[in-house]
Amino acid sequence: MPIQREPWAEPYKIKMVEPITMTTPAQREAALKEAGYNTFLLHSDDVYIDLLTDSGTSAMSDRQWAGMMLGDEAYAGSRNFYHLEEAVQKYYGYKHLIPTHQGRGAENLISRILIKPGDVVPGNMYFTTTRAHQELAGGSFADIIVDEAHDAKSTFPFKGNVDLKKLQAVIDQHGAKKIPYVSIATTVNMAGGQPISLQNLKDLRALTNKHGIRIIHDMTRVAENAYMIKHLEKGQEHRSVQDIVLEICSLTDGATMSAKKDALVNIGGFLATNEWDVFEEARNQVVLYEGLHTYGGLAGRDMEAMAIGIGESVGEDHIRARVGQVLYLGNKLIEAGIPIVLPIGTHGVFLDAKAFLPHVPQTAYPAQTLAAELYLDAGVRTMERGVVSAGRNKETGEDYMPELELVRLTVPRRVYTQAHMDVVAASVLRVHERRASITGLKMVYEPKYLRFFQARFEKI
Ligand SMILES: *Cc1c(COP(=O)(O)O)cnc(C)c1O
Repeated sequence: MPIQREPWAEPYKIKMVEPITMTTPAQREAALKEAGYNTFLLHSDDVYIDLLTDSGTSAMSDRQWAGMMLGDEAYAGSRNFYHLEEAVQKYYGYKHLIPTHQGRGAENLISRILIKPGDVVPGNMYFTTTRAHQELAGGSFADIIVDEAHDAKSTFPFKGNVDLKKLQAVIDQHGAKKIPYVSIATTVNMAGGQPISLQNLKDLRALTNKHGIRIIHDMTRVAENAYMIKHLEKGQEHRSVQDIVLEICSLTDGATMSAKKDALVNIGGFLATNEWDVFEEARNQVVLYEGLHTYGGLAGRDMEAMAIGIGESVGEDHIRARVGQVLYLGNKLIEAGIPIVLPIGTHGVFLDAKAFLPHVPQTAYPAQTLAAELYLDAGVRTMERGVVSAGRNKETGEDYMPELELVRLTVPRRVYTQAHMDVVAASVLRVHERRASITGLKMVYEPKYLRFFQARFEKI
């Protein structure tokens, strides 16, 4: 069922503009070389349309900016903390809140608190920082996502679903005691921004209840996931996104949030839990890693903007336009015959680099190569999500070779117009036309952790 075929426009008007630079091909070539062919290492001043990430790149509303002026910068007990706590309880339904500087701060806390060495954490695919913190705490990740998620060509609408048989196998193999929690992301970033269905989450809840296993919710894009449930899951179409978000959260025991995505702020996150013991321990540990439990590494004004952003993020007009803009770009590329991950995700369009550059072997980093070529063409910055992001197995030292070798065109919220999306689509088409002449890259510098951020490459 196609969502949003009719014309639509952004549900806001523009009050302030930020000029962006247009560069020449020679300037881009020099900048790319300087950056070691890694788009993370480009200066943003050299970028025309920045689709590197939707993280912290949203445009805040006038209400949020007004909220920034209401910052209560008291060290302890800031009124903005209580506003944020109210917003988390009202819109997400979790009882206890620990603010953190961003999502990975919350991941660090929950991993330290719940994971013991030798534990296994099953999840609907991994996310880079989530898995890194699970491993640092001595755990290992087990992938229990449905097979369709690893198949870029499958059009299954809920590729974020858990395969309950895979989870059962992990439980049979290790025992429920070795599983501190199941880690569930809404939506699944690494699968291409794919949602989990409400029914699957209910079935997962039933199975985990039977074994006394928690569900910890990576709720970074929960409103986007709820929007997809509303439009794709039978019986959900008459519900509000706000209502569906609440139900998703109610099926889990706690959550980590990168508020830099759904919640429309430039920095911020939190850990939320319904369990008093976990809350107590998190309140102890947050003091070591983030700051006091009523600010967690954030300014009061940041918490106020987050509290307001959470309310805006579940607004029907907002979420329809947000996901709609991504679908608009994705549909343009599909119509032009560009291989992308189907169905189109909620926060970005993912190019299938293996299909785009079939002559470049995975050991020559096809997605990294394609991201570099896209920047060269028109100054559009994208990100690799393939073998470079996947990293190495910590035991064998070998590269993980993921099925999915993708380039992510991530759309920031409320920042670009449909005209920008047209320019992006035209650039992808130009690179596609000259794809046969594109060769791969070799890695010449590899950092120890999350190598995709700082690795450097040279042309083969
Ligand atoms: C961004 C992200 C995180 C980590 O959050 P940060 O705010 O970047 O630390 C965790 N999970 C998912 C799914 C994300 O997209």
